[in-house]
Amino acid sequence: MSQNNTPPHLEKSFANDLERILFDETTIQDRVCAIAREINSTYKKRELTVIAIANGAIIFTADLIRKLDLAVRLDCIHVTSYRNQTEPAHSPEIKDHIRLDIKGSDVLLIDDIIDTGNTLLKISETLRKMQPNSLKTCVLLDKQSRRSVDIEADFVGFDIPDDFVVGYGLDFAERYRQLPCIGVLKKEPAHI
Ligand code: IMP
Ligand code: MG
Repeated sequence: MSQNNTPPHLEKSFANDLERILFDETTIQDRVCAIAREINSTYKKRELTVIAIANGAIIFTADLIRKLDLAVRLDCIHVTSYRNQTEPAHSPEIKDHIRLDIKGSDVLLIDDIIDTGNTLLKISETLRKMQPNSLKTCVLLDKQSRRSVDIEADFVGFDIPDDFVVGYGLDFAERYRQLPCIGVLKKEPAHI
């Protein structure tokens, strides 16, 4: 495995748990800037209400909204479907709902990754009932081959193969979220 792009303070603790790196920090940041430009030109100075699906989307969202040339309102919705596994333990459950009134607002729902599509579909349906003016979705990663429901995200960072990935917000058992890169987790990582 190449460790060239792993910052020195993370090398000892985490780099050995990755089978390979898919996207290094610079590649991710460049793509985040490109997505921000797409979003800026879609909304053209209108206020945007950003809803991040926590915990996975918080790091991507934090970087993305700081690149937006729009007024932004921010809220989170806390959703779980994984229980220390790489397959969902149950269908997505809302643990903590948004606080903002989104009626009449332009809403952008953000997640770290779209996999089966169940999470984005369920949360989109829930938010649509709150009567936003518009609702679009944005994900950093897209695992197309795993889709089991009919939904596509409006803004996508990267298409990825069917591997379990961690870093830049994505976790395994709540670990690895702080990695600046995204990589495929080894089958038997040392830190689990
Ligand atoms: P979906 O509902 O199957 O589309 O899955 C979406 C959720 O599953 C995301 O919010 C992630 O939390 C999680 N997820 C899916 N694939 C991965 C992965 O490769 N690594 C970490 N989390 C993942
Ligand atoms: Mg998640």
